[in-house]
Amino acid sequence: MRIAVVSDIHGNLSALEAVLRDAESGGPIDAVWCLGDTVGYGPQPAECIARLREMGAVWVAGNHERAATGAMSTEYFNPDAAQATLWTRQQLNEEECAALDALPEVMTEGEFTLVHGTLRDPVWEYLYSEEVALAHLALQETPFGLVGHTHVPMVVYQHPDWTQECDLYQLRHGEAVRLAERGKMVLNAGSVGQPRDHDPRASYALYDTEAGELFFARVEYDVNATQKLMKEAGLPRWLIERLSQGR
Ligand code: ZN
Repeated sequence: MRIAVVSDIHGNLSALEAVLRDAESGGPIDAVWCLGDTVGYGPQPAECIARLREMGAVWVAGNHERAATGAMSTEYFNPDAAQATLWTRQQLNEEECAALDALPEVMTEGEFTLVHGTLRDPVWEYLYSEEVALAHLALQETPFGLVGHTHVPMVVYQHPDWTQECDLYQLRHGEAVRLAERGKMVLNAGSVGQPRDHDPRASYALYDTEAGELFFARVEYDVNATQKLMKEAGLPRWLIERLSQGR
């Protein structure tokens, strides 16, 4: 099976389509796993929701799915994020909101646990440090975990003999990670629609189940097209600018 792992699409349909085209260039995709934050910031939230549903994506909720429907308040969002969230809420109909509200926060797919943030705090906590990774790993019952939320592609490895330590590496375009036969791993495929590691290209991972490997790729997409739609929608300037900078 070839599974496309996507996260933090953030209403950026142009980036999502580019990633799917890239994933399909090597053969058909059997499944899509989405780690949340499909909406928020970007100009095409409803279109991104429709695309994932059409593909029957396995999908966990992020903080932006929760905020977009009003299930979570925006009081802890920065002003730009809060403004974009209110705009997003106006773009979604009742049926789309109900579909987002029905998304689980944690899912298990075979040997993988899927969660947007961490298992300690599924939609809010950022897994970016060894300390947070250890807290997450202590709760992860499967050998492998997939997270999103930080918008930075990364892998965490914990050897079975290690109790109070783990290794954490950032990943770049073209790197492949072989799933460990022993120990635990957590992987983050980065962000499709709003990368934050100074590489503006859309980020995703392709999981080849036979090879037991995840291949991390960055894909060029039409950033200007997304920015133009954001300008037309009157979305905050910084959210438009950051897409060119990848931060
Ligand atoms: Zn996000």
